[in-house]
Amino acid sequence: MALPPEVCIRGAGIVGRTLALLLARERVRVALVAPAGGTARKDVRAYALNAASKALLESLRAWPDAAHATPVREMLVHGDGGGRVHFQARRHAVDALAWIVDVPALERQLADAVRFAPQVEVVDSPVAAPLTVVCEGRASATRELLGVHHEVTRYPQHAIAARLEAETPHDDTARQWFDAQGEVLALLPLGGPGSRHLALVWSVDQFRAPELMALDADAFCERVREACGGALGAFTLTSERAAWPLQRATAERWIGRFPAGDDGRPGGTWALAGDAAHTVHPLAGQGLNLGLADAAGLAQVIRSRDYWRSVGDERLLRRYERARRADVLAMGLATDGLQQLFSHTLEPLPQLRNWGMRGFDRTRLIKNWIARQAMGLA
Ligand SMILES: Cc1cc2nc3c(=O)[nH]c(=O)nc-3n(C[C@H](O)[C@H](O)[C@H](O)COP(=O)(O)OP(=O)(O)OC[C@H]3O[C@@H](n4cnc5c(N)ncnc54)[C@H](O)[C@@H]3O)c2cc1C
Repeated sequence: MALPPEVCIRGAGIVGRTLALLLARERVRVALVAPAGGTARKDVRAYALNAASKALLESLRAWPDAAHATPVREMLVHGDGGGRVHFQARRHAVDALAWIVDVPALERQLADAVRFAPQVEVVDSPVAAPLTVVCEGRASATRELLGVHHEVTRYPQHAIAARLEAETPHDDTARQWFDAQGEVLALLPLGGPGSRHLALVWSVDQFRAPELMALDADAFCERVREACGGALGAFTLTSERAAWPLQRATAERWIGRFPAGDDGRPGGTWALAGDAAHTVHPLAGQGLNLGLADAAGLAQVIRSRDYWRSVGDERLLRRYERARRADVLAMGLATDGLQQLFSHTLEPLPQLRNWGMRGFDRTRLIKNWIARQAMGLA
């Protein structure tokens, strides 16, 4: 890149790379910080991405092929006392409720797209630019350095993720079971239509997680089979297991200005995006959807700026912060509410929630509204 970068993006995860490609499309010069080395461990997760995320990634030619992005035509959510909610794509006049995307495949697509973007230079340490966007994930060191308060609520749960093969095909259905202890088991369809491959995300009590992680493969699969009442027959474990502590968090400030440099000149501005700005419980599969919406929102305010404004103009950044904060707050409250609702064992809550689920399943209007929010179509 002959001219200096206008935007420096710290962190080349899915959000950082997506933002780099969006800005490059607007002919903004980007330095993308991706320290050499990185982790060699393959991510066993698969993400539920909504229609808005799919459209965004497709526009960047970064959407994985059909074998790595499985449409969810139906979704079954089971409560602990017989309550059940059933979503069907055709009822909402859409092709799919979400797509379950293999994480390494998506990361590869994005890395390839970045390689062919002439406006993006991959660098191994931060460079000065009018705007720095921090996409370093939930444990962002730059956010710490900037002294931004990070409000964290820890759930007493860990999420275990793994890949399974089931005895029976998944029928393009995502299934979730909430139990009376607030644990949530999700089995998400993978490998394309008709396959028997699944991504598991099991949010369990933090003290039970080590025990489940230490079980041998057969014993672990038997526990999963019990937890879902044998819904898909027996399972085979097809990957390693990995676990994450769960939290809901939001940074107090999402934008700001670096302190003046040693030469007395004011520093550039900064903005947080993706998990560096916020995290939510994975039970609704919305964390990355929110992060991609951050990238789209920031690129949008930069694209629509007056020609004389710099990309680091604080007024633009404030617009970004206002819009995205509201969205993230709503999603954080919704996932937190669900988690709380299922973590209480005192009567009459267990009865009420199952009664509520049955009632909700019959209420076409509200159900339609919730489904459209989750699909990113609202
Ligand atoms: C079990 C589980 C299941 C989930 N399922 C879903 C789902 O179904 N749907 C969904 O939408 N979301 C889901 N999420 C949330 C999703 O994982 C995150 O929201 C998403 O990964 C955030 O992406 P990111 O790019 O902001 O951060 P990250 O993925 O954390 O990427 C940050 C990047 O920055 C790099 N980095 C860190 N520090 C520095 C530094 N100092 N300098 C330079 N680079 C740095 C890291 O190496 C990494 O590459 C799930 C989360 C969990 C834990």
